[in-house]
Amino acid sequence: MPVKFYNTLTREKKVFVPIKKREVAFYSCGPTVYNYAHIGNLRSYVFADTLKRALLYSGYKVKHIMNLTDVDDKTIRDSKKEGKTLKEFTEFYTEEFLKDIKSLNIVGPKKFTKATDYIGEMVDITEKLIKKGLAYKSEDGSVYFNIRKFKDYGKLSHLVLENQKENAGGRIKKDEYGKDNVQDFVLWKAWDEADGDVFWETSLGKGRPGWHIECSAMSIATLGEQIDIHTGGVDLIFPHHENEIAQSEGATGKQFIKYWMHNEWLMIDQKKMAKGDKNFYTLKDITERGINPIAYRFWLLMANYRSKANFVWEALEGAETALKRLYNLYEGLEKGVGKVNKEYQQKFREFIEDDLDTPRALTVLWDVLKDEKVSNADKKATVLDFDRVLGLGFDKLKGEKKVVLPVKIKKLLLEREKARVEKDFQKSDELRVEINSLGYGVKDTPEGQKVSKI
Ligand code: AMP
Ligand code: ZN
Repeated sequence: MPVKFYNTLTREKKVFVPIKKREVAFYSCGPTVYNYAHIGNLRSYVFADTLKRALLYSGYKVKHIMNLTDVDDKTIRDSKKEGKTLKEFTEFYTEEFLKDIKSLNIVGPKKFTKATDYIGEMVDITEKLIKKGLAYKSEDGSVYFNIRKFKDYGKLSHLVLENQKENAGGRIKKDEYGKDNVQDFVLWKAWDEADGDVFWETSLGKGRPGWHIECSAMSIATLGEQIDIHTGGVDLIFPHHENEIAQSEGATGKQFIKYWMHNEWLMIDQKKMAKGDKNFYTLKDITERGINPIAYRFWLLMANYRSKANFVWEALEGAETALKRLYNLYEGLEKGVGKVNKEYQQKFREFIEDDLDTPRALTVLWDVLKDEKVSNADKKATVLDFDRVLGLGFDKLKGEKKVVLPVKIKKLLLEREKARVEKDFQKSDELRVEINSLGYGVKDTPEGQKVSKI
């Protein structure tokens, strides 16, 4: 089965063919380190991580880079508010971000690139664009990209430039803006008082880069002029990624990214979770409720990355209960790891390679754990194999319990588990009586059924 991905650029799901045969150059837009990441942001990074794990699972070598935006309008604004230097301020939130991704069992990229380490590369691209007539200096010394000079402008967000008459000829200096505000965007911002001590003296004058040029410069510097995959949330399609294409392709004359992949929004009360709207939760809110952060990862995997997911606490609690059941089933297996079950592996792989269909892949995980025809040792090997993609931390489970139960009891417990999932409580009670009559007690706990000899 070939790997297939949905590409935002072509709006099609197609077979994935990387530029080099078995190697993938992969860039993810990372966080702006001006505050704690909210769990909507974290959806982006769980998605990128699962995608990377899936590529590795399919036998590709992956070079993954993620940036840290440590200079932009928001970092400057909020560091000033807190009376800290930009470095001090962004380093604090970088550390917090690293803790979050660790709790979510996210395998870090090969390298985190900090925007402030690539100012020279940003200036070089900007100079090139000026030379090519694609960018110009404004009265205050800032440099703007002339979107009308780049014929492909709008190809990612499927924007028809001719329809954007209202703002034609205008320009925008802010980093963030919407589709109703399509204008020439800023590459280099001439210093003004609001920037305080944040500036670089360069051939473009005293100033700082615009946000969009940062990702073009960092991705080209680390992965080259042509890259296989670039990820981010759907809100980055316009203007951020549209502008990245204009800058990069404008400067190099080559196709910049082959596959653009975007995760859908995490919603709350059916609205996008966003810092600006103050309708967000962080990972700390989850752990303060006593919920394992991996349950959040598990809950995310229950939805396709291209579907919106509406966050409610009850659903997360439900996911945690289900995850505990999985852990329990796994820990109930005897010691010793056997062989990966090929049939289940093939099914799992088919789903994962079909545009990262994690909801269906998870059903295969349940199925193998419940299949009596598969030996315990083989179940274990198969679960660990799937977890290379899912990242649910089965390999970290300790204290495998040696519950040696008669086959008959195991069967009754499985039936009872099924009855409980289906909310058939009458059947579940009848099964309890039967289990008792065979000399075993069963207790229902948040981690699932607990059995003991009576
Ligand atoms: P930022 O730190 O604001 O640059 O955003 C970091 C990442 O989070 C980007 O890839 C955004 O697209 C993504 N993102 C922001 N809000 C959400 C959300 N509610 N759901 C999913 N992804 C989001
Ligand atoms: Zn970016």
